[in-house]
Amino acid sequence: MEVIERVILNKTDSKDMWKKCLSLIKESVPALTYNTWFLPIKPLFFSENELKIEVPNSFFIEWIEEHYNTIINNVVKQILGDDGKLLYVVGDEKEANREAFNLIEKRSEKIFQNSVVIPEIVENEEDEFESYLIPRYKFDNFIKGEGNQLARAAAIAIGENAGETSFNPFFIYGGVGLGKTHLIQAIGNKIKEKSKSKKVIYVSSEQFTVEFIDAIQSGNAQEFSNFYKNMDALIIDDIQFLIGKEKTQDYFFHIFNTLHQAGKQIILSSDKPPKELKGLNERLISRFQMGLTADIQAPDFETRMAILKNKAISYGILIPNDILEYMAYNITSNVRELEGSLIKLLASSSLNSQEIDMALARKAVNEIATGRQVNISIDYITQIVCKYFSVDENKVREKNRKKEVVLARQVAMFLSKKLTKSSLKTIGLHFGGRDHSTVIHAYNSIEQLLTDDNSTKDIVDTLRNKIELGVS
Ligand code: ADP
Ligand code: MG
Repeated sequence: MEVIERVILNKTDSKDMWKKCLSLIKESVPALTYNTWFLPIKPLFFSENELKIEVPNSFFIEWIEEHYNTIINNVVKQILGDDGKLLYVVGDEKEANREAFNLIEKRSEKIFQNSVVIPEIVENEEDEFESYLIPRYKFDNFIKGEGNQLARAAAIAIGENAGETSFNPFFIYGGVGLGKTHLIQAIGNKIKEKSKSKKVIYVSSEQFTVEFIDAIQSGNAQEFSNFYKNMDALIIDDIQFLIGKEKTQDYFFHIFNTLHQAGKQIILSSDKPPKELKGLNERLISRFQMGLTADIQAPDFETRMAILKNKAISYGILIPNDILEYMAYNITSNVRELEGSLIKLLASSSLNSQEIDMALARKAVNEIATGRQVNISIDYITQIVCKYFSVDENKVREKNRKKEVVLARQVAMFLSKKLTKSSLKTIGLHFGGRDHSTVIHAYNSIEQLLTDDNSTKDIVDTLRNKIELGVS
């Protein structure tokens, strides 16, 4: 009972703490900014000097960290003390609950350490593993259009009857930002919605590879295989990144066969159709063609309008039709950019306390159009940085603390944050599974060095040029 009471108390604590933070933030930012970026945040948990808060999506975290870092740091210091920490969680109740329960378990251990009373631990009904399904990816908010008709219909069918259709594997391909991840995540969410006990996992092929390498290094390759072979549905995103990773492909091949033979659902995405995946093992390519392959094409004007309208509604903001039309007309090839321009528009209107008008829309569209650049991968950045510092690439992924290795690692993390759209979590995964706070720390350390020390600035500028120009 005591445990439960503490948790309830704790909830009140976190509310109080966040309220105090909010009142300070309110003094430091314009009202519209406050309403847009800070009011939607919910306090989740407070323990010692850490306050955990929930934000509606990961864009919030990146935006807040980029624009309000100084304000936040001051507020945290004042309210939570010098060692105070604010931890962000992206809106997902299940996750939040699970973490709360983990904390209960940890706390109960502490509380009852010296006593004979056995703590009453709340049963954790959730999966034992992280499914990486993001609740916002649903069929409901996936707009149907000419370019995605087949892919969407097939995805819905699979969501309803996973493993029981002939669409196994389901292979979906198409260009960047057209909704592949959204659709395959929506399948996973649907499967879970229909049957909670089904084991579903979503993983990018990059994360799959990183995990595999970790498993090999720690002698757990069999465990790794068994884990995936035990799924009811396995969703792997951007399978093209398995190209050149022979050993990972080998293990994946066996996992694929086991699942397929057992009638378990396999869902894959890629930027190209299977037979164009040059460099991928032939036997995998032929397996990929056994089920259904569907492509996603860029959305037509009507679909783009519908997507924008839907998004604006979901943000609770009314935007005049001519402005939406202007955006849908000018951003044609990529839904992510379409959404990006809408977010930019909302953000700049909120930041400058300006009405949403055509001039602002034009600016947002232009920024998206000029910000377009070739995709730079974290692996590529690591390669260039390591070469420059003459450090073995493997060392930056290991727990090596040699000075030159640490510097190379931090610079590579810093540039990965600057030059790719990867989240802190993904970046951490690429450096031996470090967590996102390590990446933030690296980022801040290098940023500090850049202001304190000209030679570091020169090195980082040189590296940045090399990477952006694609020269080693
Ligand atoms: P991909 O994986 O193909 O690069 P994503 O699935 O990440 O693309 O989609 C990019 C963004 O566009 C996501 O936020 C997604 O929700 C959104 N999106 C893509 N297609 C649609 C659609 N038809 N309806 C609504 N949102 C979409
Ligand atoms: Mg994707």
